[in-house]
Amino acid sequence: MKKLTLATTSLAGCFGCHMSFLDIDEKILELVQLYDFRASPIDDFKKLTEPCDVGLVEGGCCNTHNVHVLREFRKHCRILVSVGQCAITGGLPAMRNGIPMAELFTESYLKGPTCDSQIIPHDEDIPAILDRIYPCHEVVKVDAFLPGCPPHPEIIWETLSAIARGKPLTAIPYEHFKFD
Ligand code: SF4
Repeated sequence: MKKLTLATTSLAGCFGCHMSFLDIDEKILELVQLYDFRASPIDDFKKLTEPCDVGLVEGGCCNTHNVHVLREFRKHCRILVSVGQCAITGGLPAMRNGIPMAELFTESYLKGPTCDSQIIPHDEDIPAILDRIYPCHEVVKVDAFLPGCPPHPEIIWETLSAIARGKPLTAIPYEHFKFD
């Protein structure tokens, strides 16, 4: 069986989905028989610069940098999988959706209990904040969705194993849905 290539990236997420990926524990030894890694916490390369079979994306888009990273990642990945609620719905960061931007900036930088600089950051090197959090599939085409916060390691393993073996992806059993 020909090995596939696998990469991951993180946008507006907490890296909890990546931790769940690493929580497949000893199955990582099986995973390395199925995949060569490109840009992931396992090989520690930061950027995907060549075509890749499977890409896992954690987190949604909260700023212009996230959008750029996601579009570049999509360009290189044959199959793109949204991993976790932040990628699928915006997740916890999307709690800000619906709150006016001016109110958010005032609370975050001017009036919040830990604000002592009284400056709203505005350097051109800082990625611009988007008007709301966008789930990945609203920015690029996504091929599969793994729900949960984070998704259960077993879901991640079964999905990667099925893709590598050329099996169809099946519905995820309810007992594997996990929201910690
Ligand atoms: S879905 Fe949950 S675990 Fe994954 S990045 Fe979002 S908050 Fe973190």
